[in-house]
Amino acid sequence: MKARLRAFADLLLDTLFPEDDACVICGRRLDPEVRSRLCDACIKWTRRPFVLAEHLCPVCGRPCVAARPCHECTGRPASFGHVMPAALYREPVRSLVVGLKYGRRPDLARPLGHLMSQALDDAIYDLAVPVPLHHSHLSSRQYNQAACLAAEIGRLRGPQPVQAIIKHRQPPSQTSLDREQRLAALAGVFRPDLKASRLVRGARVLLVDDVFTTGATAYACACVLLEMGARSVDVAVAAAGMPSESPAKRALSPPR
Ligand SMILES: [Zn+2]
Ligand SMILES: [Zn+2]
Repeated sequence: MKARLRAFADLLLDTLFPEDDACVICGRRLDPEVRSRLCDACIKWTRRPFVLAEHLCPVCGRPCVAARPCHECTGRPASFGHVMPAALYREPVRSLVVGLKYGRRPDLARPLGHLMSQALDDAIYDLAVPVPLHHSHLSSRQYNQAACLAAEIGRLRGPQPVQAIIKHRQPPSQTSLDREQRLAALAGVFRPDLKASRLVRGARVLLVDDVFTTGATAYACACVLLEMGARSVDVAVAAAGMPSESPAKRALSPPR
């Protein structure tokens, strides 16, 4: 009787949440115990460009051509220590990030948070601080995708998720701006949340965001955290855009 009831419950759950026990990338059925919703092959594939790269930039963590900061990181003013990208901003991870960010799919924070946790170094972090959204975006999106990722990393790796920064002004679109222009556009955009000051003082902070492009947002947020007294700031991101000259392009065919 118990077995029949369980089978019925499984069928009901499959109907309500048909994708819940499938890998969100390849659709392969997973053991229900696998809570990451990613199969091993897809996890390996997302890490492939980093594993195959001869060199990784010591600042942004992206594959680069020599054992020194990449072109985009050279001359960058220091604020955060280093970036740990879980994947490159390419399909299929790109679709997961877009779904999380714009597709009302906060559940995608689970597989992305899992990938991010696996890409972290062995350092201990006290706090996981998400890059904040402006309240106008928060009310239309209903959740902050970076906060969902920070919560997942907190659950898997231990740092306490804390919203320690406020985005008190929405700057104009930055997509066509270069790094210097973005830095200028973000001046004064982020401010400390004074309610979190006591927690941040002396803390080893992991700043959490969905995408890393020029690093201007991470720089601006890390500056605020350091002003609040953080001992150190490293950055965890779900996906990093690739500099065009990167040798990692050859590692980009999808898994079979
Ligand atoms: Zn898969
Ligand atoms: Zn770099």
